[in-house]
Amino acid sequence: MEKFEISCREEAMNGRNTFADDLLRWYAQEARDLPWRRRSSPYSVLVSEFMLQQTQVATVIPYFTRWMERFPDFESLAAADEEEVLRLWEGLGYYRRARSLHAIALLVAGPLGGALPDDYDSLLQLPGVGPYTAGALASLAFNRPEAALDGNVERLMTRLLDIAEIPGPALREDLRRRITAAIPPGRARDFNQALMELGALVCLPRNPLCLSCPLKGHCLALARGTAAERPLRRLRPPVETVRALALLVTDGDRFLLLRHRDGERWQGLWEFPTFDGDEESVAADLQLDRTAWKKAGSVRHSFTRYRREISAFSLAVGLSLPLPGTEDREARWVAREELGDYPLSAGSRKIREGLIAPAEGESSVDGGRGKA
Ligand code: SF4
Repeated sequence: MEKFEISCREEAMNGRNTFADDLLRWYAQEARDLPWRRRSSPYSVLVSEFMLQQTQVATVIPYFTRWMERFPDFESLAAADEEEVLRLWEGLGYYRRARSLHAIALLVAGPLGGALPDDYDSLLQLPGVGPYTAGALASLAFNRPEAALDGNVERLMTRLLDIAEIPGPALREDLRRRITAAIPPGRARDFNQALMELGALVCLPRNPLCLSCPLKGHCLALARGTAAERPLRRLRPPVETVRALALLVTDGDRFLLLRHRDGERWQGLWEFPTFDGDEESVAADLQLDRTAWKKAGSVRHSFTRYRREISAFSLAVGLSLPLPGTEDREARWVAREELGDYPLSAGSRKIREGLIAPAEGESSVDGGRGKA
């Protein structure tokens, strides 16, 4: 058994837990003042944890603040329609998180009787809640002794224990067990937040700041000089570029928007009609005359391992609708000044913000967004 667990066991026999003491002392001095730490209601913990999944803290802050102003509790979120929920989430990406939050609010407002469950197993049953989020909710919202193993904590733990293994389900389960065993009685909330904070601020992916780490005396990777090699990682598949074409179809000062169907990647979001392929293949598929198009510009965005490059073309109406292949999608003509009211997929949002001039009297079509 590794040093971390040995030290915890020996310390427990001595009635001391210097690992936790060192960690909690550091956290008390260094914790960032983040808006979701100023409230510890289960609702605000839930919202912040969903927003923070795969998203930087600095990006989340303005979204969280705006969200809490508009939806301060489960009731207000449950009463909103999905389009407004997606609109407020627009730009954060991974829209399934927003839909899951909305679904949880509906459950709380209905069958759950007004409150989130407070135990790990029940939390794990909620939409969009996996082992990490269930542990985070149980510990941060309810101070239950459950581990919250996010990517930062996983990196920190593989270094503390100098684990030369690519993290997978079995290793994560083992780490959860070890963390849970190390939580001092009554301190789950602070202990987990301290581990996450230390992983985010000190035990950095590259160049960990070991000299200023409160756990340097407990760290096997530091003692063995292997910190830079932990955790072991699988090679990532290379980024693939895909080309697409968006049509800015106008009728006077109105733009044609199409809604993504249920089950599609950007389900529920709207877009300027966008088609995979290059100019030639899209024109052929849609049986359109390319001389009627006028290049408006191009944008790019990334998702999973793809980089999508979208060329946008203006086209005054004069074509027969619906466009081939879009017959079963909801279509709407939207005035230029109302484009900002629609939740758009990432590529179309960039087109709206970068390629479409604001309506007269507007400073911009939309306010700033946190994430490119
Ligand atoms: S000593 Fe270095 S490698 Fe070890 S936990 Fe601290 S920052 Fe990470």
